[in-house]
Amino acid sequence: TYVVTENCIACKYTDCVDVCPVDCFYEGENMLVIHPEECIDCGVCEPECPADAIRPDTDAEAGSWVEFNRRYAEIW
Ligand code: SF4
Repeated sequence: TYVVTENCIACKYTDCVDVCPVDCFYEGENMLVIHPEECIDCGVCEPECPADAIRPDTDAEAGSWVEFNRRYAEIW
């Protein structure tokens, strides 16, 4: 699965949402998050993010954002 990381904070672009084939982006408090069970790991969103905020959850930079994405996505 992919996760949204800190560069997304206060970002106003939604290019990722537009390209996601399964519509698995949700709104956190001040950033978007990806639902870990809905993401099909296609990778399409990663290069589309103008803030370079999207990472595979296996990436070292994903770190605690994995849990953060899960927590906010599951509210929905
Ligand atoms: Fe959506 Fe694909 Fe990005 Fe997952 S990797 S959030 S399915 S566009």
